Amino acid sequence: MGHVTRIVIIGGGPGGYEAALVAARLGAQVTVVDRDGIGGAAVLTDCVPSKTLIATSDLMTALQDAPALGVDSGTVTAVDLARINERVLALAAKQSEDISEDLVKAGVEIVRGFGKLAPADGAATTAVEVAVPNGEDLLLEADAVLLATGARPREMASAQPDGERILTWTQLYRLTELPAELIVVGSGVTGAEFAGAYQALGSQVTLVSSRDRVLPGEDQDAAQVLEEVFQRRGMRVLGRSRAASAVREGDRVVVTLEDGRSVTGTHVLMAVGSLPNTEGLGLPEAGVQTTPSGHILVDRVSRTTASNVYAAGDCTGLLALASVAAMQGRIAVYHALGEAVWPINLKRVSANIFTSPEIATVGRTTFNAESEDPRFDVVKLPLATNPRAKMIGFTDGFVKLYARPGSGTVLGGVVVAPRASELIHSLSMAVDLHLTVDQVASVFTVYPSLSGSIAEAARRLHSDHED
Ligand SMILES: Cc1cc2nc3c(=O)[nH]c(=O)nc-3n(C[C@H](O)[C@H](O)[C@H](O)COP(=O)(O)OP(=O)(O)OC[C@H]3O[C@@H](n4cnc5c(N)ncnc54)[C@H](O)[C@@H]3O)c2cc1C
Repeated sequence: MGHVTRIVIIGGGPGGYEAALVAARLGAQVTVVDRDGIGGAAVLTDCVPSKTLIATSDLMTALQDAPALGVDSGTVTAVDLARINERVLALAAKQSEDISEDLVKAGVEIVRGFGKLAPADGAATTAVEVAVPNGEDLLLEADAVLLATGARPREMASAQPDGERILTWTQLYRLTELPAELIVVGSGVTGAEFAGAYQALGSQVTLVSSRDRVLPGEDQDAAQVLEEVFQRRGMRVLGRSRAASAVREGDRVVVTLEDGRSVTGTHVLMAVGSLPNTEGLGLPEAGVQTTPSGHILVDRVSRTTASNVYAAGDCTGLLALASVAAMQGRIAVYHALGEAVWPINLKRVSANIFTSPEIATVGRTTFNAESEDPRFDVVKLPLATNPRAKMIGFTDGFVKLYARPGSGTVLGGVVVAPRASELIHSLSMAVDLHLTVDQVASVFTVYPSLSGSIAEAARRLHSDHED
């Protein structure tokens, strides 16, 4: 390539900043335009704050379970939400600062402002217009543009957030006192994580779920375990209950359900999905097509329908995970810079739900071990009989493994356990590297350990296969 490739990235979340680092290291001239702060929603309002809060709620769960292990946790179990949230926000700000420093060190230029594509004029290059707050607008010429503008909480007109008692997940960290009675509307991953966390912190939580069970769309065996644990810990779980509205009445909130029933509490968290940040980006004028849901249409190497324009992360609606956003972003710049690329493969993504216990999954799963599916051999081992689980007093989870009949190739797995997010990695390797159950079973595991059950599940699949 005769000249230095200029790449402009709109959005400084994981979809944008990971791509920027890779592109700069490969010698491109890179500019990141972000309106809110480097790190994006992932660092400032979503992933990082929620998992930091959950570090405290996990500690509370451990204290609540302590008597079973012979420890009287006495009176230490009151939380100071103001201090927790101060820590959460400071940690998020520091993480944003650290990423900015990494970008600057790598030679990336950071521009604070709102970016949009300049209309396509048929030229080989494209351009980004930036509205800079209190400054002059900029026009950045580029050989390639990456759109990584993320998503925001979906709001219902009949349940308008006020930032005090009717809240989105981005507003929770302003609270200085623990909600006495928190209603969580929405039982997807976000709703379930916050419902579990606040119950552990000491709120009386009511989880309003429009479906039969929490975590619709996730592994059903795992969802069942979690729902049972939630209820055992005193959470009220309302299934088949669709919220129609949420309003304030003095210092209380009333959530009215579509069937006319109502639930009252002191606060409500609306966790009813996300909308992509794709308005005002000049997409139609630039020839970038979107789906009916407003997401940017991309192929497996992150190309949009406009030449030299790529997109990554939540604005594409592929899979709303920071790890997927980062991978899409890296793939985009590899492609733009003419490097070798492997198209994204969502069958290998590992993901985790940070409830207590955690639910980690990788690869192909069929949602229910009992449902016969000839495409899979499956085994599900409860962890209650695992010696390490007994020692730590853990009774609820399981390990589930899926393999291809005949060859025994590992296709996927589910782990429901404390720190399942760490345990799943061995299965992620197995799926990615096409290992067989025999290979997984032949690897030493520590005795006693929860991972021993992963090897044991693999051994069981071998004997199933022999039968
Ligand atoms: C509560 C919650 C918890 C989560 N926890 C996890 C988790 O534990 N693990 C995980 O993998 N995923 C998690 N996710 C998902 C994860 O946060 C997203 O998948 C991730 O943030 C997507 O990254 P992104 O780069 O696409 O967008 P974002 O992180 O949203 O960043 C986009 C950035 O672009 C900026 N921007 C938007 N439009 C413009 C514009 N026109 N001009 C300039 N800047 C613009 C935004 O201000 C923002 O800074 C969680 C999500 C939620 C809601």
